[in-house]
Formats: sequence, C-alpha cells, structure tokens
Amino acid sequence: MSLRFEHETQTQRVRFASGEAASSLAEEVERLGASSVMVIATGAARQLAGRITGGLPVALYHDEVVMHVPIEVAERARAAASEQRIDALVSVGGGSTTGLAKAVALTTGLPIVAVPTTYAGSEATNVWGLTQGARKTTGVDARVLPLAIVYDATLMVSLPVPMSVASGLNALAHCVDSMWAPRADPIDRALAAEGIRALRLGLPEVLADPAGLDGREHALYGSYLAAVAFCSAGSGLHHKICHVLGGGYNLPHAQTHAVVLAYVLAFNAPSVPDAERQIAAAFDADRAITGLQMLREQLDAPRALREYGFDEADIADAVAAILPVVPPDNPTPVTAENLERLLHAAWEGADPR
Ligand code: NAD
Repeated sequence: MSLRFEHETQTQRVRFASGEAASSLAEEVERLGASSVMVIATGAARQLAGRITGGLPVALYHDEVVMHVPIEVAERARAAASEQRIDALVSVGGGSTTGLAKAVALTTGLPIVAVPTTYAGSEATNVWGLTQGARKTTGVDARVLPLAIVYDATLMVSLPVPMSVASGLNALAHCVDSMWAPRADPIDRALAAEGIRALRLGLPEVLADPAGLDGREHALYGSYLAAVAFCSAGSGLHHKICHVLGGGYNLPHAQTHAVVLAYVLAFNAPSVPDAERQIAAAFDADRAITGLQMLREQLDAPRALREYGFDEADIADAVAAILPVVPPDNPTPVTAENLERLLHAAWEGADPR
C-alpha cells in the first residue's frame, strides 16, 4: 500500500522538566515580553500557582473556573482581562482552567502559557469549548493554542489517584480515537502508539507510588503525545459519544471517557486490523482490547456510566443525539441498534470483550 497523507503540525514551545516550573514559566513569559499577566488557577492548583508565579509580573489572579466553561464565566474573565490591560495569560490547572484561558484568548487574541496539572491535554490543542445552558459548543481556532506549555511532574503529585486514573484514561482515549478519527494519518498513529506505551507504563506507577515522579513523568509525557495526535486527527466516534454524554447529561469529563473507551475500542478494533495491531503492540498484549482491559483492571478504572449519573432511561435519547454526529467513515458502520447496545453495555459496565 502506498503512503500518502497530509499532516499539519501546530507551532508550540514545550518545556518538560520536573521541579522547574517556576523558572521555565518566568522565561516563557519573558520571551513574550509581557508586563501584565493574568494567572488563572483554582482549587488545589491555586496553591501550586502561588508557588510558581512569584517571578512573574502578575496583575491579576483569577479563580472563577467552572467545568465546560459556561459563557457567563468566560465573559467575566474577559472583562477582568480587559480592565487590567492584561497582555498574557498563564493557566495553572486541568482542562477546565486551560479551557477558560482559551475562552479569553478566543476573543482577545492574548497569548497563553499553559501549566497543566491533569492529563486532559487541552494545552496541546487548538480546540475551545463553551457552554450556554445545557448546550456545549466546540470550535477550532489558532488563537486558543497556548504558545508555550510548561510541564512539571511535581505539580501532578497532589492529583488524587482516582482522578489521576480517570484523567490518564482520558489521555489514553485521545490516543485510541486518533487511530481512526476523520483526519488520522501515520504521524498521528505513531504519536498515539508512543502515547499508549507511555501511559500504560506510567499510570500503574502512579497508582503504586502517587508521590513518585517516574510514573507522573511517563503519564504526563504520554498525555502530551495523546493530545497532539488528537488535535491533528480530530474527533472520532469515542469523542463524539463523550461530547454528547458530557454536555447533555452533565457527566464528569474524565470518568466518562474512562468508561466509554473500552466499548468503542471493542466496537471498532475488528474493522481496523492495522490499528488493532498497533494498539495491541503498544499495550504489549496480543489484542488491543485485552491490553486495555488488563490496564483498566490494574488501575481499578471507572467501570460503568450508571455510577456517574447516567440514567438507563436516557439511552434512547442519547442514541438519537449521537447518530447525526457519528463520523461517516467510522471503521465499523454505526446503526441505532449497535449504538444502543454499546451505550447500554457502557451504562451497566458489561465486559466489553
Ligand atoms: P478539571 O480541570 O475540571 O480538574 C478536575 C479536578 O481536579 C478539579 O476539581 C481540579 O481542581 C482538580 N485538580 C486539577 N489539578 C490538580 C492537582 N494537580 N492536584 C489536585 N487537584 C487537582 O478536569 P479535566 O479532566 O482536567 O478537564 C476537563 C475539561 O477539559 C472539560 O471541560 C473538557 O471538555 C476539557 N478538555 C478540553 C480539551 C481540548 O482540547 N479543548 C481536551 C481535554 C479536555
């Protein structure tokens, strides 16, 4: 088979060094020539931000962060940035915090330096999301891609183990979906395969030693590769399903991904033998689903959507909402019947094998 593809690489500086966030961040902000920085951070990450932003010209600490970025929260942050004549944004936190920085950048064009504290990976994508009422809208815009990322695994050690597992499986889902998403190419698959390998090594180490840096570093490195692959490949079936479930039924982001992934992998893998072999090899397993399930068991991963607030009675509605957004070239053709079976199995936590 001939090799033929188009691939776009996003321009972004990436600094990866445990224990060096404060100095890396100061250098990145200086490179931007910024003199009035807005630091966005909340909860546990607010303390982390305090530790690493001492050397910056901070004009404003902003801590109103809400998952899925409600539009009114975005507008308050935009107004605060404009009042203080902010010239750069620094986000310290998970996907919700990075998401708020992106919402500000979307309308102001302000540059972002992102310091991630979960494995969500939003810092490496040009995708933004905003919610109005129960409706979540996402879009792609070059202005929201952080100009620089500062990765420091010491900032991850406070992330509780169950959230680390769910967030790490969210990253793994970026890798797996990148194997067959609409724009997937061989570069995305190579990045995704290395991402799977790093996450499958790192996450069990995080579980065994949550305060140790080896596991945290592997998982963080894997989550970056996952996001780069996902950004290029686009949303496949898995992300379309999770987007509808998260937005429409208010399910927690990372846990929803962690559950649904196994069912989408079992559904698609038989139709894509090359990707199935690549995923299996990255897991060091004979089959892709066996590798994923072994890891999920090792991690005591989130098991069933019913444990996260999804109601069996909503399955039919969810099927109707997902069907129109299923990528037309999904490897296994999707019907109302097989999608209903997939969601039912994910709802009850049935064995995906
Ligand atoms: P989150 O950012 O809401 O964080 C989850 C919880 O972990 C929060 O309570 C937070 O305070 C806490 N936390 C974060 N870092 C911590 C740390 N180091 N120590 C202790 N506690 C910590 O959740 P998330 O899963 O990272 O992000 C989810 C959001 O990101 C969703 O809105 C999702 O749509 C978005 N997202 C966007 C993209 C994209 O490309 N645009 C990619 C992935 C996720």
